[in-house]
Amino acid sequence: MNPPKKFEFPPNIPYSCCFRGRFERFFVLDGPAHLIKMHVEQLCKALDTTDLDDEIRPSSQLEELDVELEDLQRVSTLGMGGFGRVELVRSPDRTYALKIMNKAHIVETKQESHVVSERRILMQCKNDYIVRLYKTYRDSEKIYMLMEPCLGGEIWTLLRKKGRFDNDLTRFYCAGAMEALEYLHRKNIVYRDLKPENMLLDRNGWPKLVDFGFAKKLKNGGRTWTFCGTAEYVAPEIVLNKGHDLSVDIWALGIFMCELLTGSPPFSSTDPMTTYNAILKGLEKWAWPRFITKEAIDMMLSLCKYEATERLGFGDIGEIRHHTWFDNFDFVGFRAHRMRPPYIPSVSNDVDISNFDIFPAFDNFTSGVDESGWDIEF
Ligand code: ATP
Ligand code: MG
Repeated sequence: MNPPKKFEFPPNIPYSCCFRGRFERFFVLDGPAHLIKMHVEQLCKALDTTDLDDEIRPSSQLEELDVELEDLQRVSTLGMGGFGRVELVRSPDRTYALKIMNKAHIVETKQESHVVSERRILMQCKNDYIVRLYKTYRDSEKIYMLMEPCLGGEIWTLLRKKGRFDNDLTRFYCAGAMEALEYLHRKNIVYRDLKPENMLLDRNGWPKLVDFGFAKKLKNGGRTWTFCGTAEYVAPEIVLNKGHDLSVDIWALGIFMCELLTGSPPFSSTDPMTTYNAILKGLEKWAWPRFITKEAIDMMLSLCKYEATERLGFGDIGEIRHHTWFDNFDFVGFRAHRMRPPYIPSVSNDVDISNFDIFPAFDNFTSGVDESGWDIEF
């Protein structure tokens, strides 16, 4: 195994905004100009040239859904991200989640290709553990993604409430993440943003991944170099900018499991530099709390190997199911939804948003008309 290298960014750059967010999108540009330029070049060298995959055609695999934007009535806000807000909306016969993004904001932050890619990938996905995208719309100022609503809220909110999860609940959500990742990996799509904020619960307590802004279809056997993700969850090869592949999702699964079992991710600091250096040192010397079982520790160590090829599930993420931590877990019953979820959220009707935070009605996203046409597929 190669010894971990020390990671260094150019000095005097503010990184605080990189913490627990999409640092590719949120770095603060208030340092000396030449250093900012270096910083941006180093971190985001592929940002403007995200390779949209020709194999993921914009052809409509979406179900023909006979609902138009004008038919939708706003109920309330479900969430806000770096790009826009997600509203609960109602048509005459059911409710949906509608992700609304200002085009001017997307153009200003140079995220056009990521947003187009998010749509292309999500529209190809039909899996119980991935949120369904039904239809998209556009007008002169905004683009819209009409999705299935997950009214059980974010796993992250539940984790804040409970402090930490027991083995059963953690296994249930990790099994959900594995189903979604296995489905994506079979299509050669790397997800790159696994974390409790991006796993939602449907009203019956079944987990689903949302937010495909960082997902990318890799060319056969391919690698990619875009520096992206959430600081606490990035794998060493992303930190070192060595090029990465599907196996960064395996690393992230180990970090996800650790965050669910202990309440916080193992590598974490208000200073992302400290986080990155801790990532390079690895989990091996981590002082585990007593309540973590030896099977769980072995599983996390097996997933978070420094060398990507040594990670459990490398080449076939499904292998992870055979680890002893999953002994007696009924994957067949899980897949068939015959199992009772260990936690069932309280959702009294299809407009019950009590599992979500309250968001202001206004936001500061840059707005304005954009008819340049990059969003033609929406
Ligand atoms: P980010 O800053 O994470 O990139 P984003 O602008 O891409 O955010 P999302 O992460 O897709 O937006 O959505 C923001 C939030 O909205 C989610 O964290 C979640 O709480 C809520 N949300 C998204 N999709 C749904 C859905 N289908 N059902 C219910 N809530 C949702
Ligand atoms: Mg998100």
